[in-house]
Amino acid sequence: MSSIYNFSAGPSMIPQDVLYEAQKDFLNWNQLGCSIMEISHRSKEFIQVALEAEEDLRDLLNIPDFYKVLFCPGGARGQFSAVPLNLLNKYKNADYINSGYWSYCAFLEAQKYCIPNNILIKKIINGKVSLLNSTDWNISNNSAYIHYCPNETIDGISIYEEPYFHEKIIVGDFSSCILSRVINVEKYGLIYAGAQKNIGPSGITIVLVREDLIHYASKKSPSILTYHTLSKYNSMFNTPATFSWYLSGLVFKWLKKKGGVKNIERINQKKSNLLYKIIDRNDFYINKIDKKNRSQMNVVFDLKNSKLNKIFLIEANKRGLKSLKGHCIVGGMRASIYNAMPFKGVQELADFMLYFEKRYG
Ligand SMILES: *Cc1c(COP(=O)(O)O)cnc(C)c1O
Repeated sequence: MSSIYNFSAGPSMIPQDVLYEAQKDFLNWNQLGCSIMEISHRSKEFIQVALEAEEDLRDLLNIPDFYKVLFCPGGARGQFSAVPLNLLNKYKNADYINSGYWSYCAFLEAQKYCIPNNILIKKIINGKVSLLNSTDWNISNNSAYIHYCPNETIDGISIYEEPYFHEKIIVGDFSSCILSRVINVEKYGLIYAGAQKNIGPSGITIVLVREDLIHYASKKSPSILTYHTLSKYNSMFNTPATFSWYLSGLVFKWLKKKGGVKNIERINQKKSNLLYKIIDRNDFYINKIDKKNRSQMNVVFDLKNSKLNKIFLIEANKRGLKSLKGHCIVGGMRASIYNAMPFKGVQELADFMLYFEKRYG
């Protein structure tokens, strides 16, 4: 039993029960005498794993039948290309809501395929970063779709409302918040998420796409990024990342056992509230994000006295609180507390933050 808590932003913690289960079956999976990594993706055994993963995910997110569930290669960044390649159709424009680092990266990649609109929604109000409500987004009327990122993993900024613009296709990069809270899939044309934040190991990217949208890919779209092709071949046009797929499936089963998304959402709220409460007590720790846009998954904070940053990280590390360093482009601290992080881990971090403040404040 390891005694560390891993706050890494991604690849990140995987539930310990899942790791034990994978370990138990590692060398002799399903009584086949070998590991699951060593069998064909076309074997009936693996196809069963693949189907169950899809079914469980459909259950967890309440995905309607008229949505395809795809297990794709290429990471979330692959989707930065796949989305315009598949959804632009005859349009030359797409709207990109800019709420932070990742949504801006998606915008930059889209420039290869169209003329995306960079729609800034960040404001500073009383020294706090705040995001415009979707009713105030400056959407254009000639765009193929609206792309946005509900959880900016690096900035620690979230959009909790589900944007609605009549017939407009909404595309969401849910890489760091999928399965963390209840969502209404029907509000989206497409949802994608790299697995390595809130699901399982890296190597696989989940795409949920409304069936009627998969027929308009550009002729130049690489086959492995084309939704219609992936769907036709049950996400096995090329050899998929079988181990990631299998492990993601185990995580889905774990989550169902934990009471599903509704229950984990409650726990996630409790976890992030605990940290924000400590941050807000005084100005020893600082978080500059408007309360309504604070991330439940990636809690970012600075020490008012930035000279203490280094000591904070060293001492936290000694206590087994790992990977708390903020992303290099923003600095400070970041505690990524995805579904797999137990409440106890967050409690330990909270206790440490209080101790550290007493010692150095
Ligand atoms: C990590 C992340 C990405 C990039 O994911 P890759 O799988 O490395 O391409 C994109 N968007 C968000 C919101 C992320 O958190």
